[in-house]
Amino acid sequence: MTIEFTAQPAERLPEARRAQVLADPAFGSVFTDHMVTIAWSERAGWHDARLCPYGPLTLDPSTQVFHYGQEVFEGLKAYRRADGSVVTFRPDANAARFARSCRRMAMPMLPEETFVRALDLLVDLDRNWVSTRQGHSLYLRPFLIATQPGLGFYGPSTSYLFVVIASPAGTYFRSGLEPVTVWLCAEYARAAPDGTGAAKCGGNYAGTLLAQEQARQWGCDQVVWLDPVERRWVEEMGTSNLFFVYGTRLVTPELTGTLLAGVTRDSLLTLAGDLGYTVEEDRISVEDWRADAAAGRLTEAFSCGTSSMITPVGRVRDADGEFLVGDGRPGPVTLRLREELTGIQYGDRPDRYGWMHKV
Ligand code: PMP
Repeated sequence: MTIEFTAQPAERLPEARRAQVLADPAFGSVFTDHMVTIAWSERAGWHDARLCPYGPLTLDPSTQVFHYGQEVFEGLKAYRRADGSVVTFRPDANAARFARSCRRMAMPMLPEETFVRALDLLVDLDRNWVSTRQGHSLYLRPFLIATQPGLGFYGPSTSYLFVVIASPAGTYFRSGLEPVTVWLCAEYARAAPDGTGAAKCGGNYAGTLLAQEQARQWGCDQVVWLDPVERRWVEEMGTSNLFFVYGTRLVTPELTGTLLAGVTRDSLLTLAGDLGYTVEEDRISVEDWRADAAAGRLTEAFSCGTSSMITPVGRVRDADGEFLVGDGRPGPVTLRLREELTGIQYGDRPDRYGWMHKV
């Protein structure tokens, strides 16, 4: 069944103001003119799909999401190509992950085609918010919240609201590609075995803030999460996955159920393989990271994710000290993969995988 959307046009932001925002977007602080909402109830299923003016949601203070955190979200980007066309990157992969997150949180699963269609409609309507500037994009944030009022915690909410909002994003690094310094977090865990670590739910993020604060106190940009049991195996970083480069061999932590299966991670496994690198999903211990970096076997490390794309990891710190990866500068493999992947997204490289979705 295809869901019908009703459109209620917004009063658009004046052209001059939009141009000003697009010239220097502060990520996630300004939103496009419209948003999408789709309601779900036990009785009606998915219904009342709207493209409407961006604006506040009105919810009863007792609404389930505020108290029990039944919420999932996604993040992906739309890009403007040199020929003026607008594309999104693997929205089907985000739709599939969204459905998996919903399942884990006992929420109704939005049909994947409806997820993609909602994004398409919003991006199409607010197409003039997709910047023509090199390296800029439109960040899309679909999310689903439990809207049943009442404090009784008897089971999954009986009603939900799916929303998509969009915010212009500039280049992540204002002054060139800066390697990050990372904090090996020994005190806190992000996820538990058989917990919700592989789902993209809000609570996973709230639980990381204290560690992020600690990382900052130690002069680090990001937290690297270790496995929750032994605190020995590297899992992921902040809001991105990690890759380790041993010459022409690339290793990324395997999906253990406690880390998020990144779309960028998955794309790099394919892309790097086709570029002639050996790619492996395996366990990587902190001891090996340190020893291999010291011995020069580990030549580079980088993080990857939608918002920061591919970012070199230069320096690794814990309470006992720190070490450098390579010479602490962006390495050639990191730079090459970054160029190849952004090339596919912006249309400077052929899209051999059918990853780009035309809006
Ligand atoms: N791990 C976490 C915890 C994240 O929030 C993200 C961002 N979604 C990633 C990894 C990277 O995922 P993706 O490549 O799909 O952006």
